[in-house]
Amino acid sequence: MKIAAIECDLFFIPLPEVMSDSTHGRIEFFSHITVRVHDQDGTIGTGYTYTVGKTGGPAILSLLQQDVVPLLVDENPNEIGRLWEKMWWGLHYVGRGGIAAFAISAVDIALWDLQAQRASEPLWKFLGGSDPYVEAYAGGIDLQWPLDRLLAQTERHLAQGFRAIKMKVGRDELTEDVQRVAAMRTLLGPEVPLMVDANMRWSVEQAIEAAQELARYDVFWLEEPTLPEDYAGHRRILDAGGVPIASGENLRSVPEFRQLVEAGGVSYPEPDVSNIGGITAWLQVARLAADAQLPVTSHGVHDLHVHLLAAVPNASYLEVHGFSLKPFLRHQLTMHEGRAVAPQRPGHGVEFDWELLAAHRARV
Ligand SMILES: [Mg+2]
Repeated sequence: MKIAAIECDLFFIPLPEVMSDSTHGRIEFFSHITVRVHDQDGTIGTGYTYTVGKTGGPAILSLLQQDVVPLLVDENPNEIGRLWEKMWWGLHYVGRGGIAAFAISAVDIALWDLQAQRASEPLWKFLGGSDPYVEAYAGGIDLQWPLDRLLAQTERHLAQGFRAIKMKVGRDELTEDVQRVAAMRTLLGPEVPLMVDANMRWSVEQAIEAAQELARYDVFWLEEPTLPEDYAGHRRILDAGGVPIASGENLRSVPEFRQLVEAGGVSYPEPDVSNIGGITAWLQVARLAADAQLPVTSHGVHDLHVHLLAAVPNASYLEVHGFSLKPFLRHQLTMHEGRAVAPQRPGHGVEFDWELLAAHRARV
């Protein structure tokens, strides 16, 4: 079995409405980078990654085309572990994280898709899962929206069947965050889990103060309260703040997650399969979380993570992310009584409408 060819593409996807968080500010686009691995029999495995806005998209595409594809053509696509190491060490001097992790992720996802398709199994079953249902929440990207718009979005999400909600925090004044969280808790009532996400905005001291204030509204977790690599700071926030911590979307390697977990700084490790090094690395993070008796959650690319969370024994919530590929997908994520349902199609089953995507192809 050989890899015959690899196609890589970049699309700039406009968001249906301008979104915002505490570190990116206004968000109007996301970069969608796809990798299609063709084996010699004509089976195609598809992988993808994304960046916020247009930043990094062209660089990741170039890294894939110039440096990653030549490493893989004519290799055996079934030898995923070896190929992962080949990519990691082939890129190490400019990698060990950063955009190299995005490039490796997209390829690794495509290789797992290919292998699960060849086994005629959905990815979640291929990875050992037995139950396709995964708890899910709607992840809002809504920091600068006025309160009435934030609440209207939440009512829409509840009407769509979500039973857990995440909102952004990290406004200029903590009192604004507290008022918005209080209003959300009033709307949701006492039963619906409410997560809040600060996108690294605060110092450790600010985060502790914020956590203590927000704890009064029964926050399910506080996400990325401070810089992701400040593992000891995470531990202090967790100990003093009184709120569980989710973190990891800005970590780009398994060793970083290991340090965060070993520091006792996280309640919900939150790897993103599209930037942690693909499915190979995501499963390693899930495993090291399990070894520490922690659940694992996910960030972004929910059409992929629904498989991974359905496959591991320590799954927490799936984030149904605001960057939706919906208009370009032939099959939509299915929800049932507040839970997402991993599909039964072979592989990950994410099929793009390439003709529709073509209208958004980046000119680089
Ligand atoms: Mg986040």
